[in-house]
Amino acid sequence: MNAEIIAVGSELLTPYRMDTNSLYLTEQLNQLGVEVIFKSVVGDNLRRLVAAAQHALYRSDIVIFSGGLGPTEDDLTRETVADLLGRKLKLNVAILDGIKARFRSFNREMPDINVRQAMVPEGAEALNNPRGTAPGLWIEDSAHMIALLPGPPRELKPLFLEEVLPRVARRVSAVRMFHRELRVTGLGESAVDQRIQPVYKRFADVNTTVLASPGEVQIHLRMWTEDAQLAQKNFAEIEQGFEIALTDRIFSRDGASLEEVVARLLTLNKATISAAESCTGGLLAQRLTSIAGSSSYFLGGVVCYSNEMKTAWADVPKELIEAKGAVSAEVAVALAEGIRRRVGSTLGMGITGIAGPGGGSEEKPVGTVHIAVASGGETKARAVRFMGDRDMIRGQASQMALDLVRMHFLYNGSAKRG
Ligand code: AMP
Ligand code: MG
Repeated sequence: MNAEIIAVGSELLTPYRMDTNSLYLTEQLNQLGVEVIFKSVVGDNLRRLVAAAQHALYRSDIVIFSGGLGPTEDDLTRETVADLLGRKLKLNVAILDGIKARFRSFNREMPDINVRQAMVPEGAEALNNPRGTAPGLWIEDSAHMIALLPGPPRELKPLFLEEVLPRVARRVSAVRMFHRELRVTGLGESAVDQRIQPVYKRFADVNTTVLASPGEVQIHLRMWTEDAQLAQKNFAEIEQGFEIALTDRIFSRDGASLEEVVARLLTLNKATISAAESCTGGLLAQRLTSIAGSSSYFLGGVVCYSNEMKTAWADVPKELIEAKGAVSAEVAVALAEGIRRRVGSTLGMGITGIAGPGGGSEEKPVGTVHIAVASGGETKARAVRFMGDRDMIRGQASQMALDLVRMHFLYNGSAKRG
């Protein structure tokens, strides 16, 4: 169930008055589980109000108007809504008597123009407003809930709480939003979307959003329904389809970050890790240690930026660097194996690459990164070329390094996977 708010009043389009009613209404609607999908501010102008109301009725389940219910010619909300819904305005004698009585209580005669405030569209309910002259109005059919509320906040707020909220709650109470988030790495946004589209297109009631950042794609599934089992069933079927389409590229099904997933795997397998980093400058160590309790698996690491330090701190043979270059698969492997041996950890990581913007060559362009994971058996190495600026290249390199750790446990027959 979604809602839209239209704040009516030319004063709201000046620098001197602000539409605060919609903030209040949004807060209240959200608490009911209703999402506000559009808000607009419209002056006291018939043509523009008709246009705004037309759009709102077309695209939103609940439409709330604030303002424009006064007695004067420029208060147009009542007439506009009646006209758009094809309902005649009829004089409501009880409301008129109430307005007259209110004036009498202040020892005044009701001016004729206030009769307008007693005009009610056919089929509309008047919402009792003891704090002002004009009642609010409520119109409901199978497609819409429409509320017309007076502009003054001291009238609008209690009227919403007492009269509108219970009516909306009656229709939305059972409907909730169900949400599932999957995270993917090692594939770009369009590649992910292309693979999963055939799956999610089959579920018209489930809203699928694909959000990308460097090195990671998030897939959000949302469904509004009363039926929790139906939502879970749909999500399970979609997930199964995504699993086939994306294979081992899905690393998270509960919103966990890649470092959290890796932390769980290391803990579960009682494994420890160390890292010798060059181009990432300690980013991998930073991410591994960003998790509380990381001391149980992260033993230590070095940032060996210069060739000398690669040799001094991770035992990379000088001749190997001279022969293959500092950015090479062989040096990444030597970094991983060297730090693992030095630290005595289960796994050792080595990262070397060119983060740019300078330092690239034809043979080794900016973005070239070699990453290795040593585990005592065969050391696995990966060569990639990342796109983007320095930050993006370093971020993606750390992401791929974490993913290599994940893959190590995924394809190691004796490892626990949780
Ligand atoms: P109306 O119901 O259009 O006669 O509004 C009467 C008064 O309520 C205006 O003069 C404003 O001071 C106030 N008002 C109207 N709309 C809003 C709004 N969206 N937010 C805050 N105050 C409002
Ligand atoms: Mg007004």
